[in-house]
Amino acid sequence: MQIVSMKNMLHAAKKRQYAVGQFNVNSLEFAQAFLLAAKEESSPVILGITEAAVRHIGSFALVASIVRELIKAYEVTVPVALHLDHSSSFEACVKAIQAGFSSVMIDGSDLPLEKNIVLTQKVAAVAHALGVSVEAELGRITGEEDGIVVDESLGTFAAAKDCERFVLETQIDCLAPAIGSVHGLYKGEPRLQFDLLADIVRFTQAPCALHGGTGIPTHDIQKAIGLGITKINVNTENQMVYTAALRCALVGAANAHEVQKYTRQAVDAVRASVKQKMREFGSSQQA
Ligand SMILES: [Zn+2]
Repeated sequence: MQIVSMKNMLHAAKKRQYAVGQFNVNSLEFAQAFLLAAKEESSPVILGITEAAVRHIGSFALVASIVRELIKAYEVTVPVALHLDHSSSFEACVKAIQAGFSSVMIDGSDLPLEKNIVLTQKVAAVAHALGVSVEAELGRITGEEDGIVVDESLGTFAAAKDCERFVLETQIDCLAPAIGSVHGLYKGEPRLQFDLLADIVRFTQAPCALHGGTGIPTHDIQKAIGLGITKINVNTENQMVYTAALRCALVGAANAHEVQKYTRQAVDAVRASVKQKMREFGSSQQA
């Protein structure tokens, strides 16, 4: 299976009422965990990578070739999308597309609506000409992820009518509307705006993404999927599972220098956790 665009994946999910997980590649080991989980669950999967993670690993081309080679080595046959997460610029999206990414998110959510539309249209024109899918954000999702911080005071919900215009004028394949979810950890209970989500889905008819999936209770996840969420991003939780497993493995370890042994345990923990998410999102056995 080649790396595929997110578009068909999300349309199939919308039709059959499940969501595809976007799991973020923070290092090589995360890509291993996600691809193995997807293979074992027969689930489509979206590998998300922020620009900060690309810098950490090395380059767009290196990330794309690692994912391509892992797909081959593990004999993965389920659909895999390689997706640039929260890109800040047209230039970064083009670099990702040139390297072989099959999907990009252009995040112009800090811009006024008109400017967000213009920037997103520019990315969509290039991406769509090359069969690459595009996600964009409206309203501002707060919290912190990979060094991008949006303070609570700057958070705004997406307005349903603006979403309708945004999707119509940009022709994006996936809309990430701010409906109350948060990047990172929640302070107290998450409070998703389900009525707003229902209006947005009704007005746009577009596949919608829920960012900040860590810490959202299963009943809220399922309610969101029922209302039209077809993509759910989970990153913080996987990082917590990874570091907790490493810490646990190293307690009292006689040979703490055995890096492969301990990272393997962390990969296995993330792999198990992601498999559970795929079942929760309903994407298991859907590939
Ligand atoms: Zn996000």
